Amino acid sequence: MNTRPAVALLSLALLPLALAASPARAIVAIEPFSEQVSTTIASPSDSPSPAYQWDVSYERSFDGFSIVKHVEINFLFETPLGFTAQQKADWKAQAEASVESIWNNKFAVRDTVNNRTYAVGVDITVDGPFDQTISVAQRPADCGSRPGDLDCRDNMIKWFSDSTPVIHAHEFGHMLGLYDEYDGGAVDKLNNPTLSSDGIMGLGALDPDPVFYARYFQQYRDFIGGIPLAEYQRLAGSGVAQGNFVLVAVPEPGTWAMFGVGAVMLMAGVRRARRADTQRSLAS
Ligand SMILES: [Zn+2]
Repeated sequence: MNTRPAVALLSLALLPLALAASPARAIVAIEPFSEQVSTTIASPSDSPSPAYQWDVSYERSFDGFSIVKHVEINFLFETPLGFTAQQKADWKAQAEASVESIWNNKFAVRDTVNNRTYAVGVDITVDGPFDQTISVAQRPADCGSRPGDLDCRDNMIKWFSDSTPVIHAHEFGHMLGLYDEYDGGAVDKLNNPTLSSDGIMGLGALDPDPVFYARYFQQYRDFIGGIPLAEYQRLAGSGVAQGNFVLVAVPEPGTWAMFGVGAVMLMAGVRRARRADTQRSLAS
């Protein structure tokens, strides 16, 4: 018996599937310019060893729309919390969403030569392989009477379950490579350290609506400024010239109407980068 007609029919039946799949593949065909950053940061002190030292690990990428630092976080829940699997999942999702919304779209990077603006943001994922591990802890019961003691304060790798989203976002700032900006913290230099009473890396971490300074995003500007021209053209368009990049503050939501369509594009940009990341990790 000749089976060739059946095979031909099968091939024809598969063809529409192949056609349907090809546009989706085309969308993710443009690979972002990405690099892994792994470094140790030390805060200077008078003693021989640094007062504070921490490891920073993340992937930063530019996809033609946005510049994103992507951190994979392993949240471990301490036993006394007594969280169920569902409570852990809910807590992680909430922490991820709030820290991202606090850091995202505060600044953008503008290319003044090519008249383009790129969203700047962070992307937290919890799937691994991990860049950081955080212990989610129950705050000691007597911390109300001694809030300043070390074991009553969050740090980069120990987050109390009941701390404010801004405190968690401050600790996440250290994972981005940022120093503290308050006396007694992990400051950038011994003499005349960078301090602020309202910035999220300073005492503004205690404020529900802290200030975001351009210096927190300088690394994003430096990163895109260092992308080779051929790579920049591949992602931003073949017609672009060598860019000149500056950080610009993103307006508050109430003034977006004046800012125009670009602000909406900025919001979409970070989300788009995030989807691309997800697809990449599924692919590899
Ligand atoms: Zn800190």
